[in-house]
Amino acid sequence: MSSFYEVLTKLRLMTFFRSDGSESPILVETDADGHSDKPRIKYGELVILGYNGYLPQGDRGRRRSKFVLYKRNESNGVKRSNHYIVQSPENTKAILDTQQHSISYTLSRNQAVIVEYKEDAETDMFQVGRSSESPIDFVVMDTLPGDKKDAKVMQSTISRFACRILVERTENPRARIYAAGFDTSRNIFLGEKATKWQDNVEIDGLTTNGVLIMHPNGPFCGGQAQCGVWRECSVGGDIFCLRESRSAQQKGRQAPDETNVLLDGTLIDLCGATLLWRSAEGLQNSPTKKDLEKLVDEINAGRPQCPVGLNTLVIPRKVTLGEHINQPYVYLNCGHVQGNHDWGQDKSTGARRCPMCLEVGPVVTLCMGIEPAFYVDSGPASFAFNPCGHMASEASVKYWANVDIPHGTNGFQAVCPFCATPLLGCPGYLKLIFQDNLD
Ligand SMILES: [Zn+2]
Ligand SMILES: [Zn+2]
Repeated sequence: MSSFYEVLTKLRLMTFFRSDGSESPILVETDADGHSDKPRIKYGELVILGYNGYLPQGDRGRRRSKFVLYKRNESNGVKRSNHYIVQSPENTKAILDTQQHSISYTLSRNQAVIVEYKEDAETDMFQVGRSSESPIDFVVMDTLPGDKKDAKVMQSTISRFACRILVERTENPRARIYAAGFDTSRNIFLGEKATKWQDNVEIDGLTTNGVLIMHPNGPFCGGQAQCGVWRECSVGGDIFCLRESRSAQQKGRQAPDETNVLLDGTLIDLCGATLLWRSAEGLQNSPTKKDLEKLVDEINAGRPQCPVGLNTLVIPRKVTLGEHINQPYVYLNCGHVQGNHDWGQDKSTGARRCPMCLEVGPVVTLCMGIEPAFYVDSGPASFAFNPCGHMASEASVKYWANVDIPHGTNGFQAVCPFCATPLLGCPGYLKLIFQDNLD
């Protein structure tokens, strides 16, 4: 007969293998080469804004809510080598050779510039895009706001080979981003309509919807950083001011003093999904998932009470489907946290009068923001985003409420990083008021 301890271990293992991915941080982190036996050097993480630790359908293979970049066993980076003009790129040796990386810039129907790329032993390359073909390391689909349970995107705006990131294989690796990624034949094609130009000798261009980046103004960790300026990154890695509209023909003015080197906290917008870059160094100053779970345990240890039902409320560590009797709710206009009850409910509008302060307003379930990469500090989870109810530290909530995220093909908006819901009103967040530590 199995002992109590054995049963407990089995139960833990079962939780460990849950399909939602929320409890399996270690096993699935094999690197892009498929090796997981020896300790790997971590460069950083790319985290999609709008997910609370995993995709709603579960993280699988190269489709996941975040991608960890590890140093590869063998370098696979490439760098620019020679270039030349051809009349028909489709018959050019560099294009036909599936082992040769090359970029074809079509100038007119019968003229193209081919730029050949050669192997670079000093860098590792990682590619991001919507395609599930093998050159894409991190498959990213369009992100929809909210809980995304049955969400389907009909028309994607993310490029199949959206961008590539090259990381130096050094002690202090710098990661650089470039628009467009190489396809299965190791080619990038910029068609006749794509924006392109030739400065001195080098040719460069932009992809249809572009790759936008925003370096935070100040260190991401600590909570002092401000939202920086959004810029566009070219295929060659230069930085430009934004175009008049997302896919306008005319490129923006070049920003020669700015670089494509990713900083801890740099945002990358692929038009349909926004990624956050966290460097390995930066992540060391961020809370871990365990730290965040401890914060939840601390709130729960104070036995917060519903003032109407008088039951003890329990903050869930992750979104649970279906109502839970101890699920806390927050009144968005005042921040009072209570249980589920009918008191003060206006059946026609769904609005409720808060029994504590008599303020009328919407009520939402409260849920911990459990993705550590979005935290700028390790303060208590005493704030929540309006209107989704995701909890986080004061500094983290205030940081994200001030960050403009590109929205569609025009315009910007602040969103909750855990679910991508646009923030409502000003300031877009609220301080939580618990009735706790009563005894
Ligand atoms: Zn209230
Ligand atoms: Zn949210």
